Amino acid sequence: MKRVYLSLGSNLGDREQMLRQAVALLEAPDFHVLRVTSVYETEPVDRLAQPWFLNLVLEAETSLLPKLLLARVQKVERRLGRRRGVSKGPRTIDIDILLYGQSVVGTTELTIPHPRMSERRFVLEPLAELAPELRHPLSRRSVGELLPATAGQAVRKARER
Ligand code: ADP
Ligand code: MG
Repeated sequence: MKRVYLSLGSNLGDREQMLRQAVALLEAPDFHVLRVTSVYETEPVDRLAQPWFLNLVLEAETSLLPKLLLARVQKVERRLGRRRGVSKGPRTIDIDILLYGQSVVGTTELTIPHPRMSERRFVLEPLAELAPELRHPLSRRSVGELLPATAGQAVRKARER
């Protein structure tokens, strides 16, 4: 069993409902959701001309190996109507694998830890709710230590856990 952290985001359709459904669809005999953060409303980072996102982070325990976990999250994205359109553009749901235990994975289709997690406040702020002491396997810096550098990004709590 591995302890994993996923980032979920939505900026199309009923965003809150998308997040709720994604969490429900992820739960399975080989993927057990342990904790879910509050929902945060966040300004788009990569392409500014699109609706704001709702984001959360979840902590889970899984027996799925990284590659199969990626296939699983992509299946849930498809179920929720995700269409691969403009890169980094609007999406009903985006599910990214942030951390897979302390493992480091680097293949063409999968990079863990997620390469941009350390600079994204919409990842770090929710993650800090669950695990401020958690360390990035490569930089060895904790979530709490990484957070201040992202202070300029607009992220606010939309709903308490
Ligand atoms: P993004 O999340 O960067 O906006 P997509 O959700 O469309 O873009 O993902 C593009 C590709 O990123 C996926 O097809 C997947 O193969 C790859 N990928 C690499 N590392 C990860 C990861 N840690 N979590 C999720 N997808 C990843
Ligand atoms: Mg993604």
